[in-house]
Amino acid sequence: MTGHLVAPDRLSHARNAAAEAGIDALLVTPGPDLRWLTGYHALPLERLTCLVLPAEGEPFMVAPGLEVPAVHSSPVPSLGVEVLGWGETEDPYALIAARLAGPRRVGLANRMWAEQVLRMRTALPGAEQTLASAVLGPLRIRKSPAEIDALRRAGQAIDRVHARMHEFLRPGRRERDAGRDIAAAILAEGHVTVDFVIVGSGPNGASPHHEVGDRTLQTGDVVVVDIGGTTAEGYSSDCTRMYTLGAPPQEFLDYFLVLHEAQLAACAHARPGVTAESVDAAARRVISDAGYGEHFIHRTGHGIGIETHEDPYIVEGNTTVLEAGMAFSIEPGIYLAGRHGARIEDIVVATDEGGGGIERLNTTDRDYVVLEA
Ligand code: ZN
Ligand code: ZN
Repeated sequence: MTGHLVAPDRLSHARNAAAEAGIDALLVTPGPDLRWLTGYHALPLERLTCLVLPAEGEPFMVAPGLEVPAVHSSPVPSLGVEVLGWGETEDPYALIAARLAGPRRVGLANRMWAEQVLRMRTALPGAEQTLASAVLGPLRIRKSPAEIDALRRAGQAIDRVHARMHEFLRPGRRERDAGRDIAAAILAEGHVTVDFVIVGSGPNGASPHHEVGDRTLQTGDVVVVDIGGTTAEGYSSDCTRMYTLGAPPQEFLDYFLVLHEAQLAACAHARPGVTAESVDAAARRVISDAGYGEHFIHRTGHGIGIETHEDPYIVEGNTTVLEAGMAFSIEPGIYLAGRHGARIEDIVVATDEGGGGIERLNTTDRDYVVLEA
C-alpha cells in the first residue's frame, strides 16, 4: 500500500532481538507483524506467504507465484528481502526448511493459522515453536516519533468525523443509516479502511460493542458513537464521544459527570513510570466511589498502533510499567442495561515531556454534545 510507514531498521532490530532471545528464526505470515516489519498488506490465504527472518543470515519471503507481483509492488524488495515464489505443486514449507539449517527454536507470528503452525512443525521437526511476540512485542509497544506522528494524524482524522456528527444523527434515522454515512466520512476524512462503527442509541448504548442496528433514533436519546479506521500510513484511530438528541434524561446527566471525572482522573494519573493496572484503578475508583462500579464492565483501555487493540492493555493485573512512546486508549464506560450507556475514549501517548505525562491524540471536547432534535 502506498504511503505506508516503513522503517528499514525494524528488520535488523527484530533479528537482533531474536538472536538475544535464543530464537533461530522468526516465521511471519500475513497479519499485523508482517505489516509492521515490512509494510506488506498481504491477505491471509491458504497458500503460504511467509517472511523468514533468521537470527543469522539474510531474510527471505516465500510467496505463491501468483502473489509475487503483489510482493514486488510492496516495500518488501526495497528492504533487501529476497522473494522466493513457489509453484502450485511445490511445498513452500519444504522450501523454508531447506533454507534454514535445522533451527532449534522458531518464533511464529501470533496470528499464524493453526494449519500453518502444524505444517511448520512437520517441516521443522527439531524446532521448538514459540510466539514471535516475545521478540516483536517489546519492539512494537514503544512507538517511534514517526509512529507517534502517524497516530497523531489518525487521531486528527477521526476527530474530524466526530466534528461532523450533526450531519449524521437525528431523530427518525436508523442507526444503520447513520452508520453508513459515518463510514463514508471516516474514509473521506483521511482513512483507507473503516475498522468499526458503533452507533449505540438508547438501550443499545448499554452494550459496549453493539455496532449498528435497525433502531430508529428518537428525541431524547443518548447515543454512544465509537469509531475508528486505518490511515494510509497503516495506523489506527479509535475515539468515543457522547451525543444526545435534544435534552438528555437526568439519570444520564448524573452518571455522565462521574464518567467524565473518571476519564480525567485516569488521564491525570497516566505517565511513564506507573503501571498499566494503576491507570485502570484510577478510573475505576472514581466510578466505584460514586456507586456505579458494577456498571463499568470492561477494562479501561488498550494499546493501539498498527492494530486497534494491542499491548499495553490497561487492565487490572497488567503490571507493565508505562514508558514514553506507549500509545493506548483511556475509555471508561458506565452502562445501565436496558436504558442507555456512556463511554468517553481518547487515544493518548505517554511522554517524558513536561515532567512526564500523556499527550492526547484526540482533542475534541469530551463533554456530551447536544444535537438538534
Ligand atoms: Zn478503544
Ligand atoms: Zn473505541
